[in-house]
Amino acid sequence: LIQVNDLGHGYTMAGEEMTVLKNVSFTIEHGEFVAIIGPSGSGKSTLMNMLGCLDIANEGTYLLDGQDIRKLSDNKLAQIRNQKIGFIFQQFNLLPKLSAYENVELPLIYRNVPYKERKKNAIEALQLMGLGDRMHHRPSELSGGQQQRVAISRAIAGNPPILLADEPTGALDSKTGTEVMAKIKELNKLGHTIVLITHDLSIADQAKRIIHIQDGMIVEDRGNDA
Ligand code: ATP
Ligand code: MG
Repeated sequence: LIQVNDLGHGYTMAGEEMTVLKNVSFTIEHGEFVAIIGPSGSGKSTLMNMLGCLDIANEGTYLLDGQDIRKLSDNKLAQIRNQKIGFIFQQFNLLPKLSAYENVELPLIYRNVPYKERKKNAIEALQLMGLGDRMHHRPSELSGGQQQRVAISRAIAGNPPILLADEPTGALDSKTGTEVMAKIKELNKLGHTIVLITHDLSIADQAKRIIHIQDGMIVEDRGNDA
């Protein structure tokens, strides 16, 4: 499903080239639950941007479902991203003036999903996340864990095979974080491939495979009996 080979990336800051990812290679199959763990600044979010086709690496190849993403037009890339990838972020990124339901529905509107299908998908996603009775609340009327579950509903409403989560529990207390992790595990059981980025070992330990990244390089890639 995901094949990266020798990915390398850097940023130029004040004329100085800074390498952030070096020779990153791995394959992720359908249905896997992988945690990418590493210290702050190790390149995790940079890698997530690459995997999510939000950015293209300077070096190396990325095959998503066998397609070399470097060879795609911007339009095609956006289309593939919309179809295949759901994003979950630390800061939920919900729109404050919209209800939970409207937040989940919005990306489906952008994708021209017909009204009936959109409504069905949005309601099902919210119900799956245990928010059937919170659909008309605004983000400010929801707890942190509920807001993150709205964001997860939004990520899954289009039924993408891959979910990329960058520190999904980072803004939550440990109890709420555990609830959100339980939902993420449930999605993996339903067949979604999960790539979860974290610097928290106890969160990573809930995945079935752990890729450890340090200074932009993979230092360990191992199975984990979660
Ligand atoms: P954290 O755990 O703190 O989120 P991270 O592992 O996600 O860290 P990245 O965000 O990938 O780390 O950043 C890796 C390095 O790249 C950092 O040193 C950061 O300053 C630098 N960096 C990230 N994005 C950019 C950018 N757009 N321009 C310049 N430098 C960047
Ligand atoms: Mg980060």
